[in-house]
Formats: sequence, structure tokens, C-alpha cells
Amino acid sequence: MNKVPFVNKEQIEEIVKTYPTPFHIYDEKGIRANAQAVKEAFAWNKGFKEYFAVKANPNPFLIQILREYGCGCDCSSMTELMLSKAIGATGADIMFSSNDTPAEEFVYANELGATINLDDFTHIEFLEKTIGKLPETLSCRYNPGGVFKMSNGIMDNPGDSKYGFTTEQLFEGFKIMKEKGVKNFGIHSFLASNTVTNEYYPMLAKQLFELAVKLRDETGANITFINLSGGVGIPYTPDKEPNDIRAIGEGVRKVYEEILVPAGMGDVAIYTEMGRFMMGPYGALVTKAIHEKHTHKEYIGVDACAVNLMRPAMYGAYHHITVLGKEDAECNCKYDVTGSLCENNDKFAIDRMLPQIDKGDYLVIHDTGAHGFAMGYNYNGKLKSAELLLQEDGGVKLIRRAEQPKDYFATLDCFDIFKDLDK
Ligand SMILES: *Cc1c(COP(=O)(O)O)cnc(C)c1O
Repeated sequence: MNKVPFVNKEQIEEIVKTYPTPFHIYDEKGIRANAQAVKEAFAWNKGFKEYFAVKANPNPFLIQILREYGCGCDCSSMTELMLSKAIGATGADIMFSSNDTPAEEFVYANELGATINLDDFTHIEFLEKTIGKLPETLSCRYNPGGVFKMSNGIMDNPGDSKYGFTTEQLFEGFKIMKEKGVKNFGIHSFLASNTVTNEYYPMLAKQLFELAVKLRDETGANITFINLSGGVGIPYTPDKEPNDIRAIGEGVRKVYEEILVPAGMGDVAIYTEMGRFMMGPYGALVTKAIHEKHTHKEYIGVDACAVNLMRPAMYGAYHHITVLGKEDAECNCKYDVTGSLCENNDKFAIDRMLPQIDKGDYLVIHDTGAHGFAMGYNYNGKLKSAELLLQEDGGVKLIRRAEQPKDYFATLDCFDIFKDLDK
């Protein structure tokens, strides 16, 4: 597959007159078409709801677009809850899937009427003590341990992950919750990350549906929803085929009809909490080449750094790069593309074959729409970039301004010289 950016050189040259690089830009058309496809893929399930994982991209303008397609918000912190409330998502529109949860976050989630998804057996008691009485609807996160295998091998390692209840704890927990007055139960599980295959959700669903039937039979719990959580991936590298969400939806339907319907559980709602799949491909980091350096290797220095996109530094993740205006040029130069942090892992690409890059060229770093800007930090006192929306009509809207020094110093207002900084 050839990865083509959703913006071209002419557009970027126009945009930088108002908004200097680096910035993240998002593709409204792509976000909408994908959200519509997700909605249609699961339309067979009456209660279906996608709770967008806010942590993947906490920009309210973007989440508001998803809201038009019926999406709710999956939150895991106080500020994510506050953000959801601010855009009008409360009550059943919020799934609170957190872990190691502070008491005040349970209190606030409960105040908003969010559906709470417990990460641990001990949180049943903790929640009860914190809010007085367990809510009528409660969900538990399941972790079967071991490894998660699919036809193409081991996908992930739940046995090593900090999340969720064990099988035994889940059965015990449902009994206790039922005794304590919980009326509607949910099961949640997240067993593999960034799966680029149409098999993941159907396989996970099969496992959870079989578990749900057993749980209902053994504990008498009224299971009203099953939350497949996130983990549906995107192809970061050009050699991979994107997931087909319609095939995924059909795959889940098939196991639903095989397992839940015959068990008399044909009214169970399917929930998802996708982050990456909803937003990842529809964001890009645009940066300018400002230096070239020839030492033991060939380096291109750009005006963005790991503060703007941490995944390469943190996970060694691949992000495809297009040099604007040189889309058809031969990739005959081997570069490390670096940012300016005093950290040798601040590289967007290592030994990457690219067209020859000249100072002033604009680089599009692909697939930054999820876990991109959101993971930003302020190391080296670097400031976070602006976020722009490329609207359907081709116009560009500022949806988050770039940080300024005064923002960075805001928490030092106890120190005189930073008090009234005007920059
Ligand atoms: C991170 C996360 C998600 C989203 O994961 P993606 O891989 O971005 O789809 C969903 N639910 C929970 C609880 C998460 O922590």
C-alpha cells in the first residue's frame, strides 16, 4: 500500500502562513467516514455503542464530531471526565474504565452517572466505601492471564498485564455485587493492542460470550453489555492492509448468534472503546526540516521533537514519513530524522530511506491522530504544538493553540518573575 497524506504541499504552504510548524492536523472527512463505517458495522446490535477512548485524543472538537455518530466517551481520569462533561457527554454516555483509581475519581464518575468498569476485585469494596452504595449498573474488567493467541501467533501477553480480575475473582465478584444490589452487569476485556487483523474482536467476543453465559448460569447475574474495549489497530507501515471494520462487525455478529442468542442472551449490548482505530490515521504531525548534519550518519533535524510525538522514542514505533512535494521522488537517501531534545532516542525515523531532503522541506509524519499529541510532555521545556482541523470544505480551523512560555511557567506563579509573563 502506498501511504498518501491527506494534505499536500500547496495546502501546507498556505497553512504555515497562519500557523507555523510544527502542528498536528486532523482530517475531518476521514474521521467522519470511519465513524460512519463503525456505526454501520455494528448496526445489527441494538444497544451498540462506541465509547471513544479519550486518552487517545482528548481534543473536544474532534470528540464532538464522533458524538454525531452516537459515540460516547471512555474516560480513565478526573480531567477526562471533566472534558466529557464539558461536551455534554454524561450518564450512560460515559464509560469509566480506569485502574488504580483514586477515590475522588469514583466519586465524580458516579456523580456524572457514568458506567463504572472496575479494574480489580478489591475495588468492589473500595467503591462501596467511597460512594456509599454500589450503583445499579456495574462492569468488571476481565484478564484471563496466559497469552492471547490467534491464527498468526501470539498477539499479546495478558498474564503480564496489570489489568483486570482473574476468572475466579470475576465469578466471586459478580456474586458479591449481586448480593449488594447491583442489577445490571457488564464484562470488559482488553487482551491485545494494535491488532492489524479482522480476527481480534471476533475471537475476543467468542471468549467473552462463552464466559458471559457461564457467569449468568452460575451467579444469576443479569448481563446487559459486553465491552470489547480497544485494541483494533491501524497499519503504521505501508506493507500492511488496514482492518475492515465491516468484516470485524460481521465476525462479532456471527459468534453472537452462535453463542449468546441460543443462550437467551440476544439482547446483550456490544460496546467498544476504540481509540487508535477511530482517530489514528486521521491525524498527522507536520514539521519542517531545519538542519542537515553529516557525521557518522546522515541526519535531518526537524522543528518537531518527541514532545510532539512520543511513540517512536518510547516504543521504537514506526511512523511513515512523506516529504511533501517529493512524493514521487526515489527514496535513495538513508536518514535519521531527529528532534532537538537532549535525548538520543529523540528520532522520528532511524536509517529510513527517503527522498533527498532539503532544508525548508515539509515532512508529514503519518498516523498521529491517536496517542500522538495526547502523549505529549514538556521535557527540555519544549512547548506543545497547535492542533488544526482540516475541515470537509477544505478550510482550516484552529482547535488548540500552541503552548506559549506563559503556559509552561503557569505553575511557577509562586515565583515572582513568572507571575505576569506576557509571552
Ligand atoms: C487505551 C485504552 C483504550 C483504547 O485503546 P486503543 O488501542 O487506542 O483502541 C480503550 N480502553 C481502555 C481501558 C484503554 O486503556
